[in-house]
Amino acid sequence: MMVEVEEMQAFTDTLASAKNIVIINHRKPDGDAMGSCLALYHYFLKKYHTNVTLITPTDYPEFLWWLPGNDKVLNFETNESKAASLLNKADLIFCVDFNRPHRAEKLGELILASKAAKILVDHHPDPEEVFDFYFHDVEATSASEIVYDLIKRIGDENYIDKDVATCIYTGLMTDTDNFRIPNTTSKSHLIAADLIDRGVENAEIYSNVYESFSESRLRFFGYCLTEKMEYLTDIKTGIIAIRREDAHNFNIKTGDTEGLVNYPMKIKGTRLSIFITERADGVKLSFRSKGNIDVNEFAKEYFNGGGHKNAAGGSSKLSVSETKKRLIDLLYKNKYLFNE
Ligand code: 5GP
Ligand code: MN
Repeated sequence: MMVEVEEMQAFTDTLASAKNIVIINHRKPDGDAMGSCLALYHYFLKKYHTNVTLITPTDYPEFLWWLPGNDKVLNFETNESKAASLLNKADLIFCVDFNRPHRAEKLGELILASKAAKILVDHHPDPEEVFDFYFHDVEATSASEIVYDLIKRIGDENYIDKDVATCIYTGLMTDTDNFRIPNTTSKSHLIAADLIDRGVENAEIYSNVYESFSESRLRFFGYCLTEKMEYLTDIKTGIIAIRREDAHNFNIKTGDTEGLVNYPMKIKGTRLSIFITERADGVKLSFRSKGNIDVNEFAKEYFNGGGHKNAAGGSSKLSVSETKKRLIDLLYKNKYLFNE
């Protein structure tokens, strides 16, 4: 779904007349969620000089705190009433990198209750039909790529300055896992090249995001791989399941487990990798797969989740060990998934 040519004027008129814009992403926002939103934030401020606020449903990883505009972000968890009043006043709400308001939980209810025009900027399949304008493309590597296209479509590429470019590049880099997942196209590289020409310091961004581990975080990764990974050779599936104590012992914070789910994939021939972790609000699962194994469907069907075909997440009300047991049962019950 994408705003058609004839709707584009209505969209830019709405944008130009907006006095209060709110941008929202999903809980525990990742590099793409933060990059795409902050890119829009800088663009709106520079072009329209309006009141713009980025509200995140929760906190987010420290390896994203260097992003330009980070100091202006409002965390809903710790600023509920301020966020509610901003939403109440908003004439435009951008929902970015998620496609169902309920994924933003309580904040989602406020979005739905608001009279503001709602705009979706996203690349996850099956968006809910509650938005006024859709910038939605499942083929896009990232919400950040859609933001890039959107700004260009308005004819505002001159507004893609170093700050905007840096935010877009961060989302593009993180959602393609450094330009290596199969949906990375020549277009993604052409966008990256254009962004570098606009001043992006790509080596520095890589280092900020991927080379900023604390010592204990890296040792935790080692512990998970040696002590906590189970490898099911017959279905070429790796599972890492950790409890709160494990994370606590290594002083693990928001975002510190990011990327761990990719490690079992490094074993030659691996088709599926699952990371199970215990958070304050329950047990969370992360899925990564290769080829035809559709983890979006699997997470939707069994773990109240979703995402993309080869990268999805979900949750469970059982304990970590019961979740793992149920997961393994389900994998063997659905063994056809592993047919080549
Ligand atoms: P991650 O495993 O990195 O947390 O998430 C992978 C992908 O799945 C992301 O696109 C993310 O937005 C999506 N995702 C993660 N958890 C959930 C969930 O509980 N529900 C839905 N619908 N999507 C999720
Ligand atoms: Mn994304």
